[in-house]
Amino acid sequence: MTEDTIIHLRCLFCEATKFEMAKDFQPKEGDTLKCANCGRENPYELLMEACREEAQNIAKDILSKKLSKIKF
Ligand SMILES: [Zn+2]
Repeated sequence: MTEDTIIHLRCLFCEATKFEMAKDFQPKEGDTLKCANCGRENPYELLMEACREEAQNIAKDILSKKLSKIKF
């Protein structure tokens, strides 16, 4: 079973997935990431929160697809 789903951090303002970040930069709580598209600062915690929600939605989606494949 190979079901790798990549979740991208998304700008909270324009939904772009590119951020101006130094290479190997590891954001931590309290940091902000600057969107490469609109240039606004996104609080890292809020980005992660959005990611978690997206992950949960994807998980639910995969689960319901798998459940629909069960045959009796
Ligand atoms: Zn943006």
